[in-house]
Order: sequence, then structure tokens, then C-alpha cells
Amino acid sequence: HVVTKKPPTPSPLRNSKFFQSNMRILVTGGAGFIGSHLVDKLMENEKNEVIVADNFFTGSKDNLRKWIGHPRFELIRHDITEPLLVEVDQIYHLACPASPIFYKHNPVKTIKTNVMGTMNMLGLAKRVGARILLTSTSEVYGDPLEHPQTEEYWGNVNPIGVRSCYDEGKRVAETLMFDYHRQHGIEIRIARIFNTYGPRMNIDDGRVVSNFIAQALRGEPLTVQAPGTQTRSFCYVSDMVDGLIRLMEGENTGPINLGNPGEFTMMELAEVVKELIEPSVSIKIVENTPDDPRQRKPNITKAKQLLGWEPKITLRQGLPLMEEDFKQRLGMSKKA
Ligand code: NAD
Ligand code: UDP
Ligand code: UDP
Repeated sequence: HVVTKKPPTPSPLRNSKFFQSNMRILVTGGAGFIGSHLVDKLMENEKNEVIVADNFFTGSKDNLRKWIGHPRFELIRHDITEPLLVEVDQIYHLACPASPIFYKHNPVKTIKTNVMGTMNMLGLAKRVGARILLTSTSEVYGDPLEHPQTEEYWGNVNPIGVRSCYDEGKRVAETLMFDYHRQHGIEIRIARIFNTYGPRMNIDDGRVVSNFIAQALRGEPLTVQAPGTQTRSFCYVSDMVDGLIRLMEGENTGPINLGNPGEFTMMELAEVVKELIEPSVSIKIVENTPDDPRQRKPNITKAKQLLGWEPKITLRQGLPLMEEDFKQRLGMSKKA
């Protein structure tokens, strides 16, 4: 009985002429809000193969349903606090709950995701020589004493508060990125994302835009947390995805602020949602949560100069684009 050793089967994708210069891209947190829109954009390019690793804590397969079964797409149920072995060229590292309700739900887990999760993704990047992009946050500026915030500002963060698992977690994640870069020569990119909104946000995740839109559609009062004069700057998700891809493909490590400089008080936001979605709803002031930043607005000079990027969609244009998606998921749409 002679055992003939079979030669390894060549991967049809890797070896086809069509895919010769293909790029294999890992998106952690790709089943979430921003991640799934990023996957949609990456999949438009026929040279990209996309692998999503997600534990479905705040994301869902539903966000990726159009890609499940596609030959250039793979979805792995995986918690990034555990090591991950895949062979990739680029890593978009988004995995981390972003809404205060969810990141405060299990704060120790949020820290593990930011610290151990980011270290695992850096270990992976180091082993395979991949370029890695971290989605950090404007929360690294804390309750900022500089306004608008530039990337040079070091921030004003409470290290022991209820938001610290997220803010400080992301700050350590940024530190890890730079230490792996300096010590091991990893190619890194850091985006500091300011509040982003759009279709597929979790309906009841407590973030202000999703709250107000769901409340308006249900005919409930819009809950402005006191005092209502605190500000945020809201970026539409397609603009954000465009910025993330430019940052990954460009030559600058960052950190680079990505956000829409249009700044609104929460009372103004409520008025705009009321006007655009349901003029008959009322606005009520409710209690706020601890350590709520009083103001936030990105200085995006760097993104403009280094990435040629700036947001195109205003708040008034973007809010109505969420309406149909929310109506469908709330079972209110004729299309549902
Ligand atoms: P999201 O909660 O919709 O997505 C996060 C995804 O990560 C989800 O699919 C979730 O299941 C997954 N995840 C969480 N913990 C994980 C773990 N341990 N292992 C594997 N997967 C895990 O949030 P989003 O708004 O899409 O945010 C994406 C990224 O952008 C996050 O890193 C967030 O910190 C950052 N960011 C978002 C905003 C914003 O306004 N949306 C602002 C600043 C920064
Ligand atoms: N790691 C991973 N996938 C890889 C390579 C590494 O998840 O392909 C993890 C590894 O388990 C480790 C972390 O990344 O916990 C950091 O890796 P590094 O090589 O920097 O550190 P070391 O393994 O030497 O502790
Ligand atoms: N907020 C509000 N009503 C809500 C939810 C939030 O007025 O129903 C306020 C909150 O106090 C904060 C702002 O909206 O000042 C943004 O909150 P969000 O949780 O969306 O994001 P983050 O605080 O992380 O920027």
C-alpha cells in the first residue's frame, strides 16, 4: 500500500489571476454599527477579502446579512480578548462597545477588550506584518478644557469614574499602538472618532441620536439630559467610513481626529429631530449621568491636510437618512 502525498491544494482565490493583488482585511467589531458600514465599503472593491471577528455583544449578524455566503467574506464568532490566528494584510480594529449603556454594563470586560483585545490584535499584526488601524475616540479628551479639540491636547480624563473603563481603556489602547510601533516597527494608524450616527445604530442603546429618533417615531417625549447646553458634533457614518479608509491607505500614523465640526447643544439637536421627524412630540429635561463632557467639537485641520478628508453630510441631511431604517426595525414601515 503506497501512500502518495497529495500536493497542497492551491487556494482558488489566492492563485487566480483576478485576485493576484488582493488584500485580505480583518475587521474586528465588523458586525457593529460603524464596522458593518465599513465592511460594505470594503466589499465594494473586488480585490478585497474581508474577515469579520465579532462576539456579537452589541453587533449582529443582521448588519452583515448581505455578505454572509459571499466568497470574499468570512464571519468568525470570536472574542478578541482571546488570541486570534488569521493571515491578513490589514486590520481595522473596532471591537469595543461604544454606547455608554453597554460599555458601563460590564466595565471590567470593556477594559479587557480595550487592553487585552488591542494587545492581541497588535500581536497578530506583528506576527503577520499587517498594518493596523485603531478606532480611538474623542473621549480620550475627557471633559476637554481646550475647545475645539486638536490632536495635541492631552485631555482631561477622570481615571476612576464610571466612564473611565472606556476613556482610559482607549488611552491605553493608543499607548499600546505607539509602543508596538516604536518597539516592533508595526505600521499603525489611529483615528480619534467623534460622535457618529446613521442607520443600524442600536435602537435602545442610549446614545442621543438613536434615542431621539426612536422617541420621535414612537411619539414619546425627547429626553434631553440636563442641562441641555452640553454640545456634541455629529458625523454621518458614510463620511466616517471614508475617513477611516483614507487614514488606513495614507502615510500618517495619526492620531487624527475624524468628526464633523458642526456643533450642537443637546437642546438644539432635540429641536432639529422634532422639526424633521415628528413636530408634535414634546421635549423634556431629564437627569444626566456622571462625568458627562460639557462640550466637544473636533478640529479637523489635520484630516483635511493629511487625508484630504472632510465630512460632506450635514446633520439636517443625515437625520432623515436614518428614519426609514429605524421605522423598519420598529415595525412601523410599510416596507417591513
Ligand atoms: P458598536 O457597539 O455598534 O460596535 C462594536 C462592535 O464590537 C460590536 O459588533 C460588538 O459586538 C463588537 N465587540 C465588542 N466587544 C468585543 C469583543 N470583546 N470581541 C469581539 N467583538 C467585540 O459600536 P460602533 O459605534 O460601531 O463603534 C465602533 C468603534 O468605533 C468602537 O471601537 C468605538 O469605540 C469607536 N467609536 C465610535 C463612536 C461612535 O460615535 N459611534 C465614537 C468614537 C469611537
Ligand atoms: N497574538 C494573537 N494572534 C497572533 C499573534 C499573537 O492573538 O497571531 C496574541 C498573543 O497571544 C499575545 C498577544 O497577541 O497574547 C501579544 O503578542 P506578542 O507577540 O506581542 O506578545 P507575546 O506573545 O510575546 O506575549
Ligand atoms: N443625551 C441626552 N439624551 C439622551 C441621551 C443622551 O440628552 O437620551 C446627551 C448626553 O447627556 C450627552 C450627549 O447627549 O451630553 C451625548 O451622549 P451619547 O451617549 O450619545 O454620547 P457620548 O456621551 O459618548 O458623546
